[in-house]
Parts: sequence; structure tokens; C-alpha cells
Amino acid sequence: MTYTPPRRSNVTPYAPQAGSQTRSSRPAPPGATPGGTLPSSPSPRAATPDPLAYARRFIRDVPDFPKPGILFKDITPLLANPRALHVVLDSLAERFIGDHVDAVVGIEARGFIFGGALAARLNASFVPARKPGKLPAQTDRVSYKTEYSTAELEMHKASLREEARVVIVDDLLATGGTARAAADLVHGQGGTVVAYAFVVELSFLNGRERLLPVRIESVLSY
Ligand code: AMP
Repeated sequence: MTYTPPRRSNVTPYAPQAGSQTRSSRPAPPGATPGGTLPSSPSPRAATPDPLAYARRFIRDVPDFPKPGILFKDITPLLANPRALHVVLDSLAERFIGDHVDAVVGIEARGFIFGGALAARLNASFVPARKPGKLPAQTDRVSYKTEYSTAELEMHKASLREEARVVIVDDLLATGGTARAAADLVHGQGGTVVAYAFVVELSFLNGRERLLPVRIESVLSY
């Protein structure tokens, strides 16, 4: 007689239930973390048929970080939730299915998370654009302004082949200065920016004006 193993669900639980004893080793829900707020507490899958609406719940607003007056959109609760992360990665990747993309340039640091995952899914190279002094070999460098600072970005020389088709990825589009700087690095190496991709877009800052007419994809807009 053959043994049939008990059926296992391949669905990963995404949030601890209130009062649950069975998953007590998992971290507390992100909304419970002091210092920021989530729009509403995560609710069961059946109650959230819109996956992006579900993912949006895991973007935490942290006021006055890193400077007074800045409302920081914290993606770490989203990273901590397997379902929300899948939803966002799927949404990013499906926008490029069938497109010719040679390389994904991810912007340090949060752009590495989403850019690396996107590159793997698109079977494209991943190229990091980093803050100064982090890359070990010879680099190209550009200066730019963000919503709250002035900064520089570097990319290893010869990271891209001539006319490489590139998608630039970051976690968030604010004023567009950072993404624009990454595009300058790409252009300096003879690449073409075919699209920008962001998890979050702060549309009230009009950052996309600085990036148009290049295609812009953002998963969650505020
Ligand atoms: P910007 O160059 O103004 O478009 O700024 C985008 C970069 O700064 C991204 O790398 C973001 O991670 C970060 N950033 C700017 N504003 C915010 C914000 N309100 N919340 C979270 N990250 C931000």
C-alpha cells in the first residue's frame, strides 16, 4: 500500500492573528511598531480582494523623518509581509513581460531590493547605483538633489554595454532627482533608459515631470 503524505498548503500565512499562540515567534504587526502609522491594520486575505490595496496597507507613514516636515514612506513593513512583497514584485514584473530589458539599475539602498528581484524575474543584469565610496572599482559619479538633501551617485565604469536597454528602479519617486541622476549615469555609459519603476510615487511632488517622456511605472501612488 502506498503512503500518501498529508496535503500541505503552499500559502504562506501573512499576518499573525490576534491572540494567536501558534505563531508567537513572528514579529508583531507593523502597525504596532512605535514611531509611525499604517492606514489600517492588516485584515484577512478574503477581505482584501484587491492585492494592491492589501499591499498599500504595509506602507508606514513616519512623520518628520529624516527631517522635520518630511512624511517618510517606510517600506519595511511591506518587506516583512510575504504576501504584500509578492504582490508588489509581481506588479512590477508583469509590467515588463515581453519587453526587451538588458539591465536593471537599482538605486541604493532600497532600490536594490526591488531592482534585484525585478532583474532576476526579467532575466536581465542587475547594476547597482551606489552612494559615493561604496563601489570598489573605478566609477562614474553624478550629483543631484532629493526631496530633503543633496547627494551623489556612482556606478562602476563599463557596467553597461553600448545601447543597453535599461530599467531604473527605486523604492520611491519624490522629486525625481535621484532617478534622473541614475539616468545620467546610464546615458554616460551609452545606455538607453526604457523605463523607470517605483514601488511608491508621491505624485503631488510632480517628480515624473523630470523623467518624462520616458515611461514611468509606479505600483502605489499617493
Ligand atoms: P527624489 O530624488 O526626490 O525623487 O527622492 C527619491 C529618493 O529619496 C528615493 O531613494 C527615496 O528612497 C528617498 N525618499 C525621498 N522622499 C522620501 C519619502 N518621503 N519617503 C521615503 N523615501 C523618500
